Amino acid sequence: MSFDVQVVRKEFPILTRTVNGKPLVYLDNAATTHKPQCVIDALVDYYSTCNSNVHRGAHKLADEATRRFEGARDIIATFINAPSRNSVIWTSGTTESINIVANGLSQLLVAGDEVIVTSMEHHANLVTWQQACARKSAVLKIVPINDQGELDLIEYRKMLNARTKLVAFPHVSNALGTINPIVELTKAAKEVNALVLVDGAQGIAHGDVDVQAIGCDFYAFSGHKIYAPMGVGVLWGKESVLEEWPVWQTGGEMISTVSYSEATWNTLPFRLEAGTPNVGDAIAFGEAVRWFSSFDLPSLQVHEKALIDYATQKANEFDGLTIIGDARNKVGVLSFVLDVGHPADIGFLLDKQGIAIRTGDHCAQPLMNRFNVPGTARVSFAIYNTLDEIDVFFDALRKVKAMLA
Ligand code: PLP
Repeated sequence: MSFDVQVVRKEFPILTRTVNGKPLVYLDNAATTHKPQCVIDALVDYYSTCNSNVHRGAHKLADEATRRFEGARDIIATFINAPSRNSVIWTSGTTESINIVANGLSQLLVAGDEVIVTSMEHHANLVTWQQACARKSAVLKIVPINDQGELDLIEYRKMLNARTKLVAFPHVSNALGTINPIVELTKAAKEVNALVLVDGAQGIAHGDVDVQAIGCDFYAFSGHKIYAPMGVGVLWGKESVLEEWPVWQTGGEMISTVSYSEATWNTLPFRLEAGTPNVGDAIAFGEAVRWFSSFDLPSLQVHEKALIDYATQKANEFDGLTIIGDARNKVGVLSFVLDVGHPADIGFLLDKQGIAIRTGDHCAQPLMNRFNVPGTARVSFAIYNTLDEIDVFFDALRKVKAMLA
C-alpha cells in the first residue's frame, strides 16, 4: 500500500483526542506506539468470539483460538524472515526475552568468561547481564561510544577474544536514536564464536529486520513498539541454539512427559513457553504486523527520515538547544537538553500544550552520565506523525523556554 500520512492518522482513534484543551501531539513513540483500529478490533474480536485456551481444548472455540494464535506466530516469523516458525517464542516483551537468554547463559557461564554490552544499553539489556555475570564471576565489558553516540568499533574488536561468550547490543538506541551496524557487530563476534543477542525493541518498527541476514543468535522485541498491545513480545532464536537452551519457566505446555520424580521437555517453540500464553495480545500483535507490512517500507522510511531531518534542522536553529546523539545513521529520535530548565520541567510544560514527549534518563542512566546530563527531553516519531506537528512542537518549546528563562 502506498503511504499517505493523513489516511494513516484516521486509523488511530486516539489521535483525535485533545489533551489540556489542545489537539494531542504524540511524540513519545519510542516509549510506546498507539494502536490502529484493526489491532483494537482483533483484540475485541478474539475476546468477543473465540476466547479460549489454546492447544489443549477439545472444542471449536479452542480450535479457533489456536489457529489465530499460531497464525500470528507465522506472521511474525515471515516478518523477521525467521527460517522456522518454531524459533519464534512468545514472551511478555523485550525485557522477558532478554531475561530468558540471560538466565540460560548464567547457567552456562564459568568464572572468567566474558560478556560484552555497549554504553548505550537500555537497563533491560544491561542490568540483566550484570546479574548473569555476577552469579558466575564472569566479566562484563562495555563498548565505549563517541560524542555523536556511535559505537567505537575499534575498541569493540579489541574486547573480543576466546573468553567472550556473548555479545548483546541494541539494534537502535532508545535514548539517542543511533542505528548500530548490527551485521558488522555480529560478524566480528562470530569470529570468536560468541553468541549474539540483538535488543530489537527500537529496531523492529523502523526497518526490514531479517534475522538470517543479521546472523545473530537471538533477536528480542516487544509488540507495543510496533502498534501492537503491551504485554506481548518475541524472542527469536536460532533453532539449533534454542533447542539446547536451558528451560526458563517450568509448568504446563513446556513439558512432554511428567512423572512424580521427573519431566521431559516439549519441542520448540513450546519448551520455552510455560503456562497459558497471552493469546489475545499475540493475535493482535499478528494483526499489527500484518497491517504494518501492508505499507511500502521504503515509503515509510522516507517519511521517517523527513521527520527526523526536519526536526533536527529546527533543533539546530533553536537557541540554547543541544542535541544529545547526532549519529550519522539514526531513526526518528531527537534527544536534547535546553540551556534553561530541567528536562522534567520541559515535559510538564509541553504537556500543558497537548504535547506528549518523554523526559528523564530513558532507562539508560549510565548513558546519561556518559553525556554528563541529568536526563534529556526526547521526541520520537511514528508512522502517523507529521511535519506540522514538528512545527507545533517547536512553537510550544519556544514558549516553554520563555517561561523557564
Ligand atoms: N530495550 C530498548 C532499547 C528499549 O527501548 C526498551 C523499552 O523502551 C526495552 C529494551 C524494554 O522493552 P519492554 O519494556 O517492552 O520490555
